[in-house]
Amino acid sequence: MGDYIVNESKSAFIAIVGCPNVGKSSILNRLLGEKIAIVSPRPQTTRTGITGILTTEDNIQLVFTDTPGFHKPKTKLGEHMVQAVDESIGGVDACLFVVEPETELRTAEQELLCRLKQTKAPVVLAINKTDTVKDKAQIALLIVKLTQLCDFKAVVPVSALRGDGIDALLEELKALSAPSIHYFPDDTLTDQPERVLAAEMIREKMLLRLDQEVPHGVAVSIERFSERDDADILDIDAVIYCEKDSHKGIIIGKGGAMLKAISTAARKDLERFFEIQVNLKCWVKVKEDWRNREGLIHNFGLDG
Ligand code: GDP
Ligand code: MG
Repeated sequence: MGDYIVNESKSAFIAIVGCPNVGKSSILNRLLGEKIAIVSPRPQTTRTGITGILTTEDNIQLVFTDTPGFHKPKTKLGEHMVQAVDESIGGVDACLFVVEPETELRTAEQELLCRLKQTKAPVVLAINKTDTVKDKAQIALLIVKLTQLCDFKAVVPVSALRGDGIDALLEELKALSAPSIHYFPDDTLTDQPERVLAAEMIREKMLLRLDQEVPHGVAVSIERFSERDDADILDIDAVIYCEKDSHKGIIIGKGGAMLKAISTAARKDLERFFEIQVNLKCWVKVKEDWRNREGLIHNFGLDG
């Protein structure tokens, strides 16, 4: 049967972990094929923790998350990392662990590896900056050595600087995806913090108005965010995902009153922020496997 399903929809949530400066952002940029503003000046992008989304031609959506805790001060680094890792890798499908081609793992990396082992998520190890190593045999030795430390799904030497090994790395990451819907529109780009921001604004309006139990299972996906060519109007289509039919009813409200109140308030906010007239359309959908993703979504800060 599988023979007839060519490009089945798949996805994977992947946490990129590793010490600062090892090249996590550079690798992500390479994977996404373009230079993107990972460290955005807008705090909104970092709040969600989603740093990059790649939807491949073969219908696989890879959602990358960063580990914010890693950028925190050096005080009690080990403890910090453990905590940060717990928070950011809980519920992901896989981890991409990035190291530099050093002869030994750093203490912090050893601790991180311990933690990664405890989670059930498969780990792909990328040895970055291979361009800095003249003797390639040294890298082969390093691979052998690191392979003994953990049952990595794959160990891939790369150079984000040169682009070496990135295709091979992408193949390994794609192999970690599982049949699933795509959680973001396929054209979602990481350099669109405005989409994230718009979603946050809408979600905020729901939090203000709805009973506590409803917003908990709610997420907002911006399906369209486009400015018209012929007018100064920004068209935003948003889908509000909830867990249950009963929640859907509450969000829509009597005669659509609640949804209208939410979208009117959100539209005003959006107009003020983007300084343009906004045409906001909101839909409410029940996402069946939403509950399974709840922990994950929570980690992304999408549920407040
Ligand atoms: P992050 O903190 O892990 O996200 O690391 P960055 O991606 O910001 O990279 C840290 C530094 O390492 C930057 O100066 C990059 O230019 C450099 N860098 C990243 N990848 C490579 C690589 O493959 N080779 C070399 N030589 N430098 C790299
Ligand atoms: Mg970075």
